[in-house]
Amino acid sequence: MMDRKFIPLSIPNFEGNEEKYLVDAIRSTYVSTVGSYVSEFEKAIASYLKAENVAVCQSGTSALHLSMIEAGVEQGDVVIVPPLTFIAAINPVKYQKATPVFIDCDDSFCMDPIKLESFCKEMCSWDGQVLRHNGAVVRAIVVVHVFGNMADMEAIMDIAEKYHFTVIEDATEALGTYYEQGRYAGKYAGTIGHFGCFSFNGNKIITTGGGGAVTATDPKAVDHMRYLSTQAKDDPVYYIHHEIGYNYRMTNLQAALGMAQIEELPEFIRRKQKNYELYKELFEGCEYGKVMPFRKGISSNQWFYSFEINRSKIRASMKEIISALREKRIETRAIWGLINEQRPYENEETYYLEKAPYYADRILNLPSSTQITEKEIRYVASELKQLLESL
Ligand SMILES: *Cc1c(COP(=O)(O)O)cnc(C)c1O
Repeated sequence: MMDRKFIPLSIPNFEGNEEKYLVDAIRSTYVSTVGSYVSEFEKAIASYLKAENVAVCQSGTSALHLSMIEAGVEQGDVVIVPPLTFIAAINPVKYQKATPVFIDCDDSFCMDPIKLESFCKEMCSWDGQVLRHNGAVVRAIVVVHVFGNMADMEAIMDIAEKYHFTVIEDATEALGTYYEQGRYAGKYAGTIGHFGCFSFNGNKIITTGGGGAVTATDPKAVDHMRYLSTQAKDDPVYYIHHEIGYNYRMTNLQAALGMAQIEELPEFIRRKQKNYELYKELFEGCEYGKVMPFRKGISSNQWFYSFEINRSKIRASMKEIISALREKRIETRAIWGLINEQRPYENEETYYLEKAPYYADRILNLPSSTQITEKEIRYVASELKQLLESL
């Protein structure tokens, strides 16, 4: 098997009009933030999401930062965040010199609304606003839709309304995920909370190399974030600036790539869903672990697949499992290290973390590129089963 093809975890797919649009953008000489693809891509995302206004930017991280600024998060404020996610979801809290509080996830890996509410009740006083013991205002919450799943937005929005904080949805992994049932039927991840953030980094479901987008329920807030992303220029002729801006706007080259990618998004999602079903079937009845489900009542983009290792049978470390699979030319990955255990966050407050550390020790992500073949999926499943049996 020395000549076996390497099976990557998640790589981009450029089967569509990527080259055509990129060449077109280059020939137009509009390669920077001015150019027709930029506003065209914004309109395409807005129309896909059924959102009124979308601003494209340099990254998911800058989308999150712009949301945090627009939400009025300031020095000394508290922002509620998840511990089990990519650190980029939390860092913008620190950019604003605010304080994160880590609240546990549920079995969807997304924030647990029960613990969220008990934190608000037990740990905060209520004075028209949720206040901590030191008087700090709980200003916002970052809800991450992990791996294309959807957080329990009905419950979270009720709590946010009751306690008056702003909901920032990190939908960077969940472009295309929507509710099929309930109060939010037909609503896409990122369009339910006050702000929604998306990423087009290399391994996301569509990519612009690096890039992001932000939306908000208030279209004027999106206009203001777009203004902040272009150095807050107030006058097109004279260089007049009334606010501190950022260089966060997406370039025309990125947007050209984005236009080609968003055309393919429905097909990418179709393949992700089909491949997920095959993985699930192949691991049915496996005593060493299982493929984790997505929340009921949603249509998920099924961007990333999670295999939960049965720790009552398998004691090997994630590192051992991942490197044994690498020998078989299969790339897998462990879910993230907990953010509250990372050096910049190790002294921050946590609230009853149970599921986050539980899953951090058990979840292995399986290869999920849209190009993966049925044969490769069968190979991954059989090698992983054999490996777990031998451990
Ligand atoms: C990818 C990702 C981000 C950051 O997006 P970038 O475009 O890489 O800045 C933020 N949060 C989560 C959960 C992500 O997966």
